[in-house]
Amino acid sequence: MNMMEKVTSEVRGFLASPLKLAIGGKQVDAKSSGTFRTFDPGTGEPIATLADGGAEDIDIAVKAAREAFNKSGWATMPSKDRAKIINKLADLIERDTAILGELESKDVGKPREQALAFDIPHTVGTFRYYADLSAEIEPRVPFNVEGSDAWSVRLPYGVCGFIFPWNFPFLLLGWGVAPALAAGNTVVIKPAEETPLTALYFAKLAAEAGVPDGVVNVVTGGGATAGAALAKHPDINRMSFTGSPEVGKMVAEACASNLTPAKLELGGKGAAVVFDDVDVDQAAKGLVGAITLNAGQVCCTASRWLVHENIAEEFINKAVAEMKGMKIGYGGEEASQIGPVVSEKQRSRVLGYLERAAKEGAEIYLAGGEEKVPGHDGFYIKPALLGGSPENIAAREEIFGPVAYIMTFKDEDEAIELVNSSPYGLANSVWTTDLDRAKRVSEKLVAGNSWINGHNLFNHGVSYGGCNLSGCGGGVLGADTLEDYYRRQSVVRPL
Ligand code: NAD
Repeated sequence: MNMMEKVTSEVRGFLASPLKLAIGGKQVDAKSSGTFRTFDPGTGEPIATLADGGAEDIDIAVKAAREAFNKSGWATMPSKDRAKIINKLADLIERDTAILGELESKDVGKPREQALAFDIPHTVGTFRYYADLSAEIEPRVPFNVEGSDAWSVRLPYGVCGFIFPWNFPFLLLGWGVAPALAAGNTVVIKPAEETPLTALYFAKLAAEAGVPDGVVNVVTGGGATAGAALAKHPDINRMSFTGSPEVGKMVAEACASNLTPAKLELGGKGAAVVFDDVDVDQAAKGLVGAITLNAGQVCCTASRWLVHENIAEEFINKAVAEMKGMKIGYGGEEASQIGPVVSEKQRSRVLGYLERAAKEGAEIYLAGGEEKVPGHDGFYIKPALLGGSPENIAAREEIFGPVAYIMTFKDEDEAIELVNSSPYGLANSVWTTDLDRAKRVSEKLVAGNSWINGHNLFNHGVSYGGCNLSGCGGGVLGADTLEDYYRRQSVVRPL
């Protein structure tokens, strides 16, 4: 059996029988006995049957996580020992990269090569980063006060809830869960109902790595049922939600009713500001790469392209040529650069936006629209390039598909104003060879992240988060994210 056949057979084995909830170290059915299916976005075919968890299952999972927090020793073991287990978990993720990449590609539709080259190795890096960081952190920090012996101690919060979206299921799981586990918390994870497979595989690997039972729990199920039950559970000590602003608000309200601190990582309408001193070819290639990554289903991608009027025509021509040259195809085929979007619902959403944008008078440089991939009856979309007024719906709302919108500008101030006119604040980029200008402009763009001469840049140790409609609560990926998962307790003894 060659390597690929081995992976295919392991994946088949994993998906063969209905997948159960992972609670307290056991695989269990949903209390309702209900199930649901997930579909391969590249073919529309069902790929797995899963337990449809609801409020009762969430409650059981939270109890299991609480029990593990209190009794398993995870919360109290020296951080170096916990880090060893998390590093072992990272090793197992790395060992099973091919299986996880295949699962992620099938579930999300994304090209398998991209999952193998980015989603999975990046997640290995995330677990290693937080494991190593937590091992080095001194739990006690003395206060220098007169007449008292006083210090602050870092302690884990307890049970942390996580709700994830479907675009980068495994990578986002790592961003969320790795720092929480490294700090000694226990977790209950509710993956997106469209893409729950790698979260369940993760629970299996956590057990193999020696993470005690009940530290990692995964409840698959619907948003309005399992998701809502987790957000409003009174015994959650911290909540983290990644998804749309609409649902984020509901989660924040539910958490507020229990005074549960919540991190919200939400949508975006990122901009790229392209000045007229750039290498137009390179900038166009970079931005087409950004808007077609994951079929445009990337929260922080640049979907508004602000291009200096002197180079607009050349830039548009290059971008259109680049978009036309991209290979749209099934995620499992090596040559595919753009896979399908995640579901029929998502495809209709994107096509609906294209229609509305045209009705509102957008310039159509490349029309995009539905794509047929022979032999694969999935949810494929061609990239589109529109442009025109900043008032157009495609310039204002998050489309979450391979659709970019071009606007031109005359000077720096106009560009900054246009970028900052969006209610979102996740990520923008500045493209120029003038480094002083790059620095100046990047700091004036109101968002959690500004990138220079690149877009979608993620580094372990560099905080990534959003402001305004794109989120609140501290973000992910930085050293400060680990701090977010410790509660600080002051201890004072008069001398
Ligand atoms: P979504 O908000 O529809 O769903 C996200 C998750 O919330 C899913 O697990 C869903 O089941 C759950 N959910 C739905 N209703 C719920 C409810 N009432 N209570 C609790 N949970 C509920 O988002 P989506 O369509 O899965 O993902 C796309 C969105 O996510 C986009 O807006 C995108 O920009 C955003 N996103 C943000 C980031 C970031 O880091 N800022 C990363 C990825 C995606």
